[in-house]
Amino acid sequence: MKNKKITRKITQGVYSLTTKNGGCIVDAVSQISSGDNPLVAVAVMNSNFTNELLKENDTFAISVLDKEVDGKIIETFGLNSMRDINKFEEIETVEINEIKIIKQSIGYMLCEKVDMIENETHTLFIGKIIEADVFNDLEPMSYSHYQSHKDEILKVKTEDGKTAWICTICGYIYYGDSIDDDFRCPICGADKYDFKIKEN
Ligand code: FE
Repeated sequence: MKNKKITRKITQGVYSLTTKNGGCIVDAVSQISSGDNPLVAVAVMNSNFTNELLKENDTFAISVLDKEVDGKIIETFGLNSMRDINKFEEIETVEINEIKIIKQSIGYMLCEKVDMIENETHTLFIGKIIEADVFNDLEPMSYSHYQSHKDEILKVKTEDGKTAWICTICGYIYYGDSIDDDFRCPICGADKYDFKIKEN
């Protein structure tokens, strides 16, 4: 592949995907249809705990995050697992039909799961929108804006005296003098070429 970074030019946003007992940050959301059968598709990594929850649960919600989003929302939902922390204790939410959505968002789509498509690494969940609301007129965060402003958004801090490598896909930070050739990001699976060194 000459340069797979062209995929970052696909216009997509940054969202919080929540379901009963968990949630994560996603970018691969797409509207499939509108009208009487409003469908959306969202892809979630198989290794992600939210993926397990989505397979058990019948409903999920997508909260649309804005360009000035509080980095704590992305950090809490994107760089942590409910296996380790309770994300809903860290971030303010509003409950809609038993699903917690992000209060500080542009709005949400509550979906009923209607289909799942599996591949080696991800599951594509297809949902029918059963409830939705718009809270404000803020500008949505685009994935490319997030990629180019991630340091400011996440306010990445490095530990003293260590070299930090940041995954440019998900924001995970690896500390060490070098990265092995076969290193993979434990959060998103990106390879070493997607890591950049953080200047102290
Ligand atoms: Fe990553």
